[in-house]
Amino acid sequence: MPESSNASSGLLERLENGPVICAEGYLFELERRGYLQAGAYVPEVVLEHPEVVANLHREFVRAGSDVIEAFTYYGHREKLRLIGKEDLLEPLQRNALEIAESVAEEFSANRPLLAGNICNTNVWDPADKATDEQVTAMFDEQVAWAVEAGVDFIIGETFAYYGEALLALASIKRSGLPAVVTFAHHQDAGLRDGVEIDEATRMLEQEGADVVGVNCTRGPDTMLPDVARIREAVSCHVAALPVPYRTHAQQPTFQSLQDPGSEYLPGDRPFPTALDPFTCNRYEMAAFARSAFDLDARYLGVCCGAGPHHIRAIAEEFGRTPEASRYSPDMSKHYALGSDDSLKKHNRNYVKKL
Ligand SMILES: [Zn+2]
Repeated sequence: MPESSNASSGLLERLENGPVICAEGYLFELERRGYLQAGAYVPEVVLEHPEVVANLHREFVRAGSDVIEAFTYYGHREKLRLIGKEDLLEPLQRNALEIAESVAEEFSANRPLLAGNICNTNVWDPADKATDEQVTAMFDEQVAWAVEAGVDFIIGETFAYYGEALLALASIKRSGLPAVVTFAHHQDAGLRDGVEIDEATRMLEQEGADVVGVNCTRGPDTMLPDVARIREAVSCHVAALPVPYRTHAQQPTFQSLQDPGSEYLPGDRPFPTALDPFTCNRYEMAAFARSAFDLDARYLGVCCGAGPHHIRAIAEEFGRTPEASRYSPDMSKHYALGSDDSLKKHNRNYVKKL
């Protein structure tokens, strides 16, 4: 058994006791920092700059993430084929897991949970039965590497098809590890194979998923109604990890957001590299986490666009003081906006002109 097998029940125990926070969004953050390319979105950074990935794991845990998710997202066989580097598949996967594991060990006193990850393959086609086998092989190889690395549980995420999520779940279940399976809900009312999201999660629960829910694509305001529907449909734990962007009823996903106010968009939409003006502030993300928790969704986090400040605000919303809380805002000592008695009057009097 992997060394962390004791902790394999850790996720479910922690969920029984309250929220579990999972920072995601590695692809977006590392693209922004210049370590991988928007478009193909392949996490080559885990081979080229492992120290950068390790540090981002560290920053998220320091900000309050209970989970380190190994950065294998979009590091699967199809993505590597797309960039002509299929030979890097196994080293990339193993490196990502090793990096995540080594950072988890640094926090020995309060070790975060270590999660493996599988995701949408972009190969699965409901009209082509042969892709079941192809996709299952892709999931199985990744799950096997994650199990070997001693992960505590496995996340299957951003599935737009129920059928593909079901294959992912089956693969995770064969490993014996807890399964967190989340859908990426696009603009249509249902998933791409026509299954309603609440029905899809209900069926996944029946097939043995431990946590079901939604991540990515939708911001807080357009994800919350899904969370409520899913909560009604299942009795297992529910996951809610929105993107931190101000999506709304007319443009419910971050891919569909429009920004007529900018003259400088590189294409017909701000997604994915010009979403900055839509970014939710930390307080909005904390408010979402609270609302989701009030619905009894306990597996909470932030997906593409997440920064450590979002994660810290969510942790603090639940009364926690992660290491980064040492530097949580205290405006009382601001030179003009502050209230400290020793501040200079001429600056404080200038406050309305700032
Ligand atoms: Zn995402």
